[in-house]
Amino acid sequence: MAHRDAGFVRRWLTEAARAVERDADRLTELDSAIGDADHGNNMRRGALAVVAALEKEPRTTPGAVLLLAGRTLVSTVGGASGPLYGTLLRRAGKALGDAERVADTELRDALRGGADAVAQLGGAAPGDKTMLDAVRPAVEALPDYAAAGAAAARGAADTVPLRARKGRASYLGERSVGHMDPGAASAALLFGALARVAAAEAAAGGVSDG
Ligand code: ADP
Ligand code: MG
Repeated sequence: MAHRDAGFVRRWLTEAARAVERDADRLTELDSAIGDADHGNNMRRGALAVVAALEKEPRTTPGAVLLLAGRTLVSTVGGASGPLYGTLLRRAGKALGDAERVADTELRDALRGGADAVAQLGGAAPGDKTMLDAVRPAVEALPDYAAAGAAAARGAADTVPLRARKGRASYLGERSVGHMDPGAASAALLFGALARVAAAEAAAGGVSDG
């Protein structure tokens, strides 16, 4: 199994930022249907801040990269998604500690802990029509990165018929049915980016099993 270094996590988050930039308008459109039309802007602001922070303060371990990114999201994103995504990444970063290279299963376990922390912070259960409905299946598909990307996309699509029970969309009750959850859509971007970066690394010869 491959091991991943700080560069891998940096490439992941940079690719995710690019995807958010590309799809920001769609995220805002989704949020305008069942929220307050700011999710694309929130995610764009956070993504730009993360990329800037990673350039300004180079980190040499996967854990430190995730911690810095998570801390940056919490401090720059005003909406609910900032503290939630920030918690996901910070908790994962903390779990990885200061190891210079981590196994794919360790990264998976760290992200699973991050998802647990998001559930604890926001109180959302599976099927509540939140970002967790994309994050959870993605994490469970790891360490198969391609499967994780696909599972997140499917999880996001599967939020369409759900009724929101957490966050702003829950105020709409039945009227939240029939729309994709914006946070689940952005989580699909995050794991889609992870899948692409892992595929690129594999194509380049991958990281040897050390
Ligand atoms: P806000 O709701 O404050 O405007 P955003 O629009 O940036 O923040 O993010 C909305 C997204 O955050 C939702 O689509 C949902 O996926 C996610 N979210 C909101 N509340 C929760 C929660 N309690 N648990 C998990 N995710 C949540
Ligand atoms: Mg919003």
